[in-house]
Amino acid sequence: MSPPNGLTEAGPDASPLAVLLGTAQDGGYPQAGCEARCCGHASSNEISSLYPSSIALCDPASRSRWIIDCTPAFPSQLSLLDKIFPGNHPGLILSHAHVGHYTGLVNLGNEIMGRRRVPVYVLPRLKAFLQNNEPWKELVDNENIELRSMSAGEPIELDGGVRITPRLVPHRDEHSETACFQADGPTGSLLWLPDIDSWEELSPGIEDLLGEVDRAFLDGTFFGSGELPGRDMSAISHPLILDSIERFSSLGAEVRRKISFIHLNHTNPAIQPGSEESQAIEQAGCSVARQGDRIEL
Ligand SMILES: [Zn+2]
Ligand SMILES: [Zn+2]
Ligand SMILES: [Zn+2]
Repeated sequence: MSPPNGLTEAGPDASPLAVLLGTAQDGGYPQAGCEARCCGHASSNEISSLYPSSIALCDPASRSRWIIDCTPAFPSQLSLLDKIFPGNHPGLILSHAHVGHYTGLVNLGNEIMGRRRVPVYVLPRLKAFLQNNEPWKELVDNENIELRSMSAGEPIELDGGVRITPRLVPHRDEHSETACFQADGPTGSLLWLPDIDSWEELSPGIEDLLGEVDRAFLDGTFFGSGELPGRDMSAISHPLILDSIERFSSLGAEVRRKISFIHLNHTNPAIQPGSEESQAIEQAGCSVARQGDRIEL
């Protein structure tokens, strides 16, 4: 069986591979209980289902797999990854303590998978949060998961020569700090940044980070204002895609081409490939990330 997306099956000498396991906001698409046009007619829309944002980093030589974020759709995402890149039990790297990014950890506990000492990389506040709050504390105490400390700005060596560097991102940090990740492999690099309040407060700046990578997956939660009827969009802290493509319009085409939007809310019309909004993103020289896509690292 030939793998999707036209790439050849990854032999042991192939480059490490990143696999997009989800591109939606924390609630996925369609979102539970949504009867509005965005999800209510999902069956007639081009896209039928998307998982919350997550990406796997895979090494063909060792068959090791690392997944950034453990979403509520972890079971489906793991079986998607098994189809695209079968390998060892994956380790995890977590960005922050919002429900779409870590609550899939429950699957590792004794009631479900009963895994032993799954390595989970975390920044300090997230580590303390998981150690001190149930049901995560039980996963730590039972040694279903083994928390491994990361520090912002300090790279971690994964398998196959892939290095991952967490950086702090300004975001609503109620329970933990928030990280974005730069992944550098032998042949390629990427930035994974699903959640941010605004580009202005990021340091180093987004333009500097774009200069360091071949691909960048950036917060595209909402397309424009007015997307959430009855709610004040200015009170919701995410850069709008319209504002982001305006900001990035001053960059060269070769930089804009690196940018793909992820973490799309169910209300975001750009989630549908044929939509006007999706076309506007392409006209701006950027793209919307596609679940299942693969990138050589
Ligand atoms: Zn999120
Ligand atoms: Zn909806
Ligand atoms: Zn968040």
